[in-house]
Amino acid sequence: MAECFHTKLITTSDRAKIEGAQHMEFHPETGLDTAKKILKMAIENFPNRRHNVAIPQYSQDGVVGFSHETINYLLGGLFRASYKPLNDNIINGRIRGVAGVVGCNNARTPHDQGHLEMVKELLRNDVIVLSTGCSAMACGKAGLLTPEAAKTYAGSGLAEVCETVGIPPVLHMGACVDNSRILIAATAMVKEGGLGDDISDLPAAGAAPEWMSEKALAIGQYFVASGVYTVFGTTWPTFGSEALTKHLFEEHEELYKGMWAFEQDPIKAASLMIAHIDKKRKALGLEKARERVLFDMAMRRALA
Ligand code: SF4
Repeated sequence: MAECFHTKLITTSDRAKIEGAQHMEFHPETGLDTAKKILKMAIENFPNRRHNVAIPQYSQDGVVGFSHETINYLLGGLFRASYKPLNDNIINGRIRGVAGVVGCNNARTPHDQGHLEMVKELLRNDVIVLSTGCSAMACGKAGLLTPEAAKTYAGSGLAEVCETVGIPPVLHMGACVDNSRILIAATAMVKEGGLGDDISDLPAAGAAPEWMSEKALAIGQYFVASGVYTVFGTTWPTFGSEALTKHLFEEHEELYKGMWAFEQDPIKAASLMIAHIDKKRKALGLEKARERVLFDMAMRRALA
C-alpha cells in the first residue's frame, strides 16, 4: 500500500544482513506466486524483528479497489455498463455531488482525524466520496468502505442510492498513485451527459486534508489544472509569496477553471467543497432537488 520511500543511514551490519537476504526477481507472468513467496518469507521472518510490534486485535470488513470499469459495471450492469444512474441521481438531487478525498497522513495532525471528519461531513450532506491512498485506509479502518456504512453516515438521498446499487458511500479507488482513476471517473460523468461539458462543470471537488508528500502537491496541481476545485489542509508552502499565493488561490480559475484552496479545519474545508458543489449545481440549473415522477402510459406517449 505505502508508496513512500524513506531514506535511512544503513550501518555495516545492516548492509551485511541485506546482502545476506534473499532477492527475488519479478516476472509479470509469475507475479502472484512471487507475491505469495514474499509474504511467506515475511511471516517466517517475523520472530526476528528486533522491536516489539503491536498488531491491533481488530479487524474491519471493506469493499476496496474500485476502478472506472467497476463503477461502470456496478451502476449499469454487465451488459449496459453506464454512469447514467450516477448522473441521474446527481441531477435529481439524491446525490448532491462527488468529492475526491485523498492523500497522506501527517504527523502534524491527529492520525486520520482530518480525513474522517471531512468524509463524514461530506457523506452527511449527500456527497459521495471517492478515496485513495492513506485517506482510503483511514476510511477503511473506520468502517466507511462497507455498503452498510451508508445507513449510518450518509444523508437520506445518498443512503438510498448506495442501498439500491449496493455500493459503499466511500469508494476506495486504489493507492495514492491511482488518483488518475478519479479523473477518469469524472471524465466518464461528463461524457455521460447532463452535467456540463467539462470536468470543471461537474458538482465535484477534491481534497487532501492531511497531505505531507511533495507528490501530493503535484497531484493536486494535476487536479486543479484539470478543472477541479481542490482544498488542502495542514500547511501550505507558498504563504511566503503573496503574489504566488494570490495566483494559486484567486487567479487560477480563469486559466484552468479549477482552483486551489487551503483550510486546516476539516469541517470548514468540507463546507468549502459543498459550497463549490452547490455553485456548480446552480450553474447547471440543479439547485433544487427534483421530485421523482413515475410516468404513466399517457405521459410516455406524450414524450417526443
Ligand atoms: S498517501 Fe501520502 S503518506 Fe500515504 S502512501 Fe501515498 S504519499 Fe505516502
